Amino acid sequence: MMRAAVLHGFGDLRVEEVPDPVPGPTDVVIDVARVQPSVTECMLIAGEPVALHGRLADALAAGPARFGGHEFCGVVRTVGAAVRDVAVGDRVTAVETIVCGRCPACLRGRSDACLAPEFIGFTRPGAFAEQVVVPASCVVPVPAGVSAAAAAAVQPLAGALHAHALAAVQPGETMLIIGAGVMGLLALQVARRGNAGLVIITGRSPAKLALAARYGADLVVDAAADDVWPAVREATGGIGVDVVIETAGGPPEAGLAGVATFESAARCVRRGGRVVMVSVLPDRVPAPLGLLRERSVSLLHPRSGAGGYSPGGGVFDHALRLVARGDIDVESLITHQLSGIEEVPKAVDITRNKTAHGAINPAQVDLTGGWEQPWNS
Ligand SMILES: [Zn+2]
Repeated sequence: MMRAAVLHGFGDLRVEEVPDPVPGPTDVVIDVARVQPSVTECMLIAGEPVALHGRLADALAAGPARFGGHEFCGVVRTVGAAVRDVAVGDRVTAVETIVCGRCPACLRGRSDACLAPEFIGFTRPGAFAEQVVVPASCVVPVPAGVSAAAAAAVQPLAGALHAHALAAVQPGETMLIIGAGVMGLLALQVARRGNAGLVIITGRSPAKLALAARYGADLVVDAAADDVWPAVREATGGIGVDVVIETAGGPPEAGLAGVATFESAARCVRRGGRVVMVSVLPDRVPAPLGLLRERSVSLLHPRSGAGGYSPGGGVFDHALRLVARGDIDVESLITHQLSGIEEVPKAVDITRNKTAHGAINPAQVDLTGGWEQPWNS
């Protein structure tokens, strides 16, 4: 038996004994070293009507369900008989989207459009547990020099890289990043590495805005004190920015900005510009579509999975390399670290209410306490 988090109903996550995982021939079993809840997971656990809510509601109607834990790293404990490229003892993380490999989309080389994907921690048990089973095809090795904390936090960076790539930022283009939370601060660092020109960031927390200044934002706008559009207008000669990366919208009860930042994005982007929506808004919200249409603005949604840019380019490998090189600072964003599997529900609570807790990155849980050979970065 092992310890794992089990969801007994919306908002009711408990850590209890569950059977040890059983790997298939192409699977690996990983001893979880670090795990952090994603913001989307926390919204789903709370019962928010965001993506996959319906499937989770159906599962809970049938009884308690293993749920959560796709942002993690660990050490390979066992490998299935048919696994060739992953070895016991490897330090790894994993991409949470598992494509089926058999559907018409997969057979046409468009596995990003797989008709029957599975998601670690959503449609199958994840890493809110002492051990997790994943297909070897999802495993990504963690390079030397990357700490367990950084490796467990790599998925949000992958998301920031996807958002930047989707916006197709051209050399010298102007960018506005709305929100100085973990996604905004990662998007800022990616923008600086991705040859953007003027980079403006807005936020409300003085501590986070100070980090934004440290990461090299050209203009930091305190959205609690100043209107954003006048500052953007002045900085861009009245044009607006080429690209907005919006990261702050979401339920106000979770300390997020509702739809106000979406409206701000529509106001601050130039005619013909692009708005990338990183934040996860409820399914039906008032949206400034008239303003976007009138000004021919492209509204873009980055892929939510952590899959590759293309079949040949893995975004996780890219993200881990940026961290290993020191190009991107992930560790300074990790504000809350807990110890032991029993702390998973607390990590979910902190991550769900990051603003109230002064958290930037999701709260992490370290599970290496009882190991003979802990993560040796
Ligand atoms: Zn498929």
